[in-house]
Amino acid sequence: MRQSEYFIKTLKEAPTDETSINAQLLIRAGYIDKLLAGAYTYLPLGVRVLDKIKQIVREEMNNIGAHEILMPALQPKNIWEETDRWQQMKDIMFQFKGRGGIDIGLGTTHEEPIVDMLRKRVNSYRDLPVYLYQIQDKFRNEPRAKSGLLRGREFSMKDLYSFHQTEQDLKDYYEVVKQSYVKIFQKLDMEVLIVEASGGVFSKEYSHEFQVLTPNGEDTIYYCQCGWAQNKEIVKLKVGDDCPNCNQASIQESKAIEVGNIFKLGQKYAKAMNLSYLDDHGKKQYVYMGCYGFGPSRVMGSIVELFNDANGIIWPAAVSPWSAHLLLLGNDQETRAKADKLYAELQANNIDVLYDDRDESPGLKLKEADLIGITKRLIVSDKNKDLIEYKLRQEEEISKHAIKDIIKLFDV
Ligand code: ATP
Ligand code: MG
Repeated sequence: MRQSEYFIKTLKEAPTDETSINAQLLIRAGYIDKLLAGAYTYLPLGVRVLDKIKQIVREEMNNIGAHEILMPALQPKNIWEETDRWQQMKDIMFQFKGRGGIDIGLGTTHEEPIVDMLRKRVNSYRDLPVYLYQIQDKFRNEPRAKSGLLRGREFSMKDLYSFHQTEQDLKDYYEVVKQSYVKIFQKLDMEVLIVEASGGVFSKEYSHEFQVLTPNGEDTIYYCQCGWAQNKEIVKLKVGDDCPNCNQASIQESKAIEVGNIFKLGQKYAKAMNLSYLDDHGKKQYVYMGCYGFGPSRVMGSIVELFNDANGIIWPAAVSPWSAHLLLLGNDQETRAKADKLYAELQANNIDVLYDDRDESPGLKLKEADLIGITKRLIVSDKNKDLIEYKLRQEEEISKHAIKDIIKLFDV
């Protein structure tokens, strides 16, 4: 993509009403624009990053046998009354009247609609298990939407739901999902802790949150180097106490961002909405259910909170909006021809490249490239006639290569 033909408008100053690092950098670098508190437009660069995150999640969901669906954001009141949640969710759910006075809510989560769909389709034990997920925008009337992509009122969620004959089957699949989340975060270069948190539904069962440690997080967690971790909302220990897992006096406290949360819901929704099946003796049984959330847009914001410096964003390779940022520095015909040639060669090798071919000063181009934060940078300059300069965004070191050796720098 030639930058001269691309829609990127960087801003010199961060908007004064945005205080979070992720919102400031993403707006200045041309990834997002704020429409209202908690609702952002994704610009071309932003869509590419968000799509890469969604794609990594989608691949892992497909790997664990789940199938993708897409449910509506518009939801009727009656199914939410079956579980008593229409009233409970009143503060957080956008609720309004449609034509004919019908009560409608915008989806905060999708247990009710998916159970409603499934109860018309599951009859026998042979119809189970079922694993379905979607990647869809959720709406929540959050009281404080001040942290950019970390807390949206309209935000992206991947929600997976699983349905089982037995509690044991649910428990086994829950562990499979947990491991798939570990893989997703590894691919994203994010270090996460798996944190025990309140189950919500059963008081004795924990749910598990995936938390990234950062001073800018809203959650507080207690953790130990051995991997044990609990959310402050349930913890009964203090900093310096013995860890209940490894017995060392090592409990630490940190702020963190919750990027995923998985729950065993048991038969709560199945009983409330009559999702049942006939077992192999012809006896009616209620289905066991699990739900597994992951926030692609919150993850995008978290990555920016974790990976940045004074000059801008530093994307991990897996979500960098473009694999390479090619900069042309110098405006004589010879240098431009050389950069054009490298651009064509990269494209021929399926390396997605953003080519800054604009007629702008080297200083401005380098500054913008730092702000945008593409992982790998190539520079064709009039100061270096024969060689191409190669630099990683996160490192100072520059190496020089002949054109024929450039492709090898990308693992294609
Ligand atoms: P929080 O406690 O931060 O409000 P939650 O526990 O209500 O979040 P879940 O219902 O567990 O969130 O949602 C699943 C995932 O969706 C979260 O782990 C997070 O990644 C994402 N998420 C939830 N709320 C938001 C939001 N307002 N903006 C962006 N992402 C969100
Ligand atoms: Mg949660």
